[in-house]
Amino acid sequence: MANNTPVSTAIRLGATRVIVLPAGFTCSERRPPRGALEHAFNALSLLVARQLVHDLQHWSGHAHISVVPPLCPLDISPYDYSRCGELIDRAAGTTALWLSHNGLDSQNVPGALHPHKHDAESPSCSADIPPPPQHDHSPPAERHL
Ligand SMILES: [Zn+2]
Repeated sequence: MANNTPVSTAIRLGATRVIVLPAGFTCSERRPPRGALEHAFNALSLLVARQLVHDLQHWSGHAHISVVPPLCPLDISPYDYSRCGELIDRAAGTTALWLSHNGLDSQNVPGALHPHKHDAESPSCSADIPPPPQHDHSPPAERHL
């Protein structure tokens, strides 16, 4: 039930190269799930992520597995389809950045797939993606001093 990313099946069928695009799970501040259905969906997304991490750790020695880091922080339920466009745009941007930093060569399990929390010191666990370059707002004459 929780094996929605069939890494084990791909490797058993002979795959030596696997690229996983996980949806991740809601990890940022939002209202807690309400009612039985929302609790069930929330629990299912956590269970799926946990199973994926287990599979990645178990099968990493059998194939080159690259995992595109899921969005983090994510404050939208994976079952809320009202903001798909926003999620697609964010994912396209972070995935392009991950690819430009040789993400396909990586075999790391993204931090955003593990249980985690956010605070002011670590607002995102997308450490697998380098932060965008900081803009230097000082006057040109002072930049190289
Ligand atoms: Zn997160």
